[in-house]
Amino acid sequence: MDGRTAKWRISTKIACLYGAILFVMLCLMSFVTGLGIYFSYYNQAEHEMQISIRNVLHHLDEGTAFTREFWFDEPILPGVVLRVTDMSGQLLIDTDSHYPAIDDVNANVIKHKPLWASDHMQVSKIHNMVIYHAKIDTVYHGDVLQLHFYRTITANESFLRHLQLLVLLGTVLSFLLALLAGYFMSNRILRPIRTLTQTARKIEVERMDRRIPVPASHDELAELADTFNHMLDRLQAGFKQQQRFVSDASHELRTPVTVILGYSDLLSRWGRTDKEVLDEGIASIRSEAEDMQQLIEKLLFLARADQKRQVLHKENIELSELLADVMKKMQLVEKDHTVELRENEPGIIYADPVTMRQMVRIFLQNSQKYTPKGGHIWASSRRAPDGRHMLLELADDGIGIAKENQEKIFERFYRVDSSRTKAEGGVSGTGLGLSIAQWIAEQHDIRISIESDLGKGTKFILEIPIVG
Ligand code: ATP
Ligand code: MG
Repeated sequence: MDGRTAKWRISTKIACLYGAILFVMLCLMSFVTGLGIYFSYYNQAEHEMQISIRNVLHHLDEGTAFTREFWFDEPILPGVVLRVTDMSGQLLIDTDSHYPAIDDVNANVIKHKPLWASDHMQVSKIHNMVIYHAKIDTVYHGDVLQLHFYRTITANESFLRHLQLLVLLGTVLSFLLALLAGYFMSNRILRPIRTLTQTARKIEVERMDRRIPVPASHDELAELADTFNHMLDRLQAGFKQQQRFVSDASHELRTPVTVILGYSDLLSRWGRTDKEVLDEGIASIRSEAEDMQQLIEKLLFLARADQKRQVLHKENIELSELLADVMKKMQLVEKDHTVELRENEPGIIYADPVTMRQMVRIFLQNSQKYTPKGGHIWASSRRAPDGRHMLLELADDGIGIAKENQEKIFERFYRVDSSRTKAEGGVSGTGLGLSIAQWIAEQHDIRISIESDLGKGTKFILEIPIVG
């Protein structure tokens, strides 16, 4: 409970709403039906009275009233009673002597006629009997006469009242039934939502493998459960990746720190006296610290990329100039390999110059690392046959990459030969270079493909979109 507002379950709401709608409809229906019954009862009576009155008046006009011929003609419809009196109230004719007396009927006239009663008629109620009646004064053969017409609307008024009560009871009962049925049905329909809520409540960061059972029906709830499960899949994958990233990063940092600690122990013990130990210690500590710095730089870059905080300042640049510059600088420092820039066709690309350089260097540095001394490293750039891309190739004749590893090299922290460290004669590396290159490529719509054979060399081909 919220405290401020009462928390209603949807099933309760639906049940109440439908119950209320049904209730209103039933009330309306029974009201209309009841009204119809009353109208038809009164209407029928009025109709028969009027026919009888008309017939009698006709005979009065003709001068044939109350003769044998008159009675033979049966002017008064069955159910209608006619009484004729003179002005003193003396009863002259009575078609039904068992009918309530004129005075009785007159004494029991109801003041407020019901809506459905005719204006020309009076309504009297004697015990359970409702009587419709009308009085007409007329002159016949010089005598002033009073004609009294009667018609019973119902001899058992309580029946009508019972009927009303029954209808009302039926309405209330149907309402309650609808309320109950609505509650159970919506409860049943919405059960998956409750399961969903319960499952969602149980999902913790440590227990992300839970999934919501998807109902067999192909309705909105099944869709919701399915969507929810897919969302959890994605969250779990992202979370796992994050966790692996953190543990890999920590692992990578542990090695240089251990080495640095080892050397500082060595230095504190022998470094003061032994110049050789001193030099080696300082050099090693420096090298490890440099590696660590590079690793941290790369981690920061990827963290910024993940958080979409890595800013790129794209502009139109001449690819051939950029490539020539990178290659020239590399040639200046490179002593162990032959570095060569082959074809370098001009082409304008829309790119961030800083990260673009960084990407080219990542590939070239890999070539340096994974090509034995005396090997060749070369680059070439030319227009693709489609005219819309530049094909930038960065290649070496180094150790190459086995086919089965070619897909994995872009994964974070993945290194083909991760077991061999620098100290063991391997090459140092964090396995992050190509992940960064791939991110940069994605930001520039660049497609990377790789051609490599173990022992023969590696060639990375970058398809870079040209401006215009
Ligand atoms: P760093 O983060 O310092 O670059 P790294 O070079 O090991 O570390 P990546 O650049 O991502 O990491 O490369 C991943 C792996 O792919 C490398 O460890 C290496 O095994 C393989 N690799 C990449 N380029 C080449 C290449 N030109 N020749 C052979 N193997 C390569
Ligand atoms: Mg690398």
